[in-house]
Amino acid sequence: MPPDSTAEECERCHKKALYGIEDRCRACNHPRPPNVRFARDFVQAVEDRFQEACKNHGTRPGLKEFQRFAQKTKAVVNVKVEWACSFFNGAKILYAPYGKQVEGEVRAPADPDEDRQRLGIEVLMYGSYSHYITYAALSGDGRGLTSYGPVHMELDEATFDFRATVLEENSYSFVTRHGLGPGTPTPFPPGRLAVWRDRHKLAVAKLASDVRERMADSDCCQLLLRSTDDRKTDDFLEVHIYGTFNFQAVKRVRLSQPESAGELTDLKKLILPLRFRELQETLEGWGIEWSEA
Ligand SMILES: [Zn+2]
Repeated sequence: MPPDSTAEECERCHKKALYGIEDRCRACNHPRPPNVRFARDFVQAVEDRFQEACKNHGTRPGLKEFQRFAQKTKAVVNVKVEWACSFFNGAKILYAPYGKQVEGEVRAPADPDEDRQRLGIEVLMYGSYSHYITYAALSGDGRGLTSYGPVHMELDEATFDFRATVLEENSYSFVTRHGLGPGTPTPFPPGRLAVWRDRHKLAVAKLASDVRERMADSDCCQLLLRSTDDRKTDDFLEVHIYGTFNFQAVKRVRLSQPESAGELTDLKKLILPLRFRELQETLEGWGIEWSEA
């Protein structure tokens, strides 16, 4: 097969990439995040949706400000405080995707229904590479989804911008809404998955009709991400990062108050504040900024 003259070159060995979404160059094995490669197919479609939203809502006061705000958004991963304590205590501990954790037998699968659904959805998004994707939420202020835990870890852009894509909603509702089940001849809907640097275009395409005049930063944050303490009703743009990261990828941490005290056992009520204090001390030791969420 002759090389496709339009195919991307490997940035390392400059050979033409002959095949689809592989995670490394076939010639020199240099890594290339397959989710980013996949999203590049939709750059024009994202641009078209963005332009369409600007055309339909361009006169809407506040849209330009919202677009500028969306350009500064961050990727945030939420975890439980117990987990964060060990994560920040060891440079060797990695935040790894669910599928890889199960495969590596460091965690048991979720309940059967959830496990099947979770793996099925992931595979429908990225096929063979779905096991390597870690998930974050697109956030305006460093606060993410408390349904995953009260510790909001804002990631340092330099550690992931080259390996991240953004989906306009969470994968569960995306796959279901667009009928992307196996055996369905539905192609992946164009214009819904963006490379990281185009995330503001996706945000505008999704939310332009909800933008109002004189929105404060907090209003923009709310529009971009609605954290409801319930994964089924959380509404956000989902960030997909190829591969793992350790605590060095975390730039800033915000801490929400954990579950309401009424639901905690007496022992938990005693331990949790100590855990939070331990985490705060560890973060201070590393020089990682933290604040109350
Ligand atoms: Zn190469």
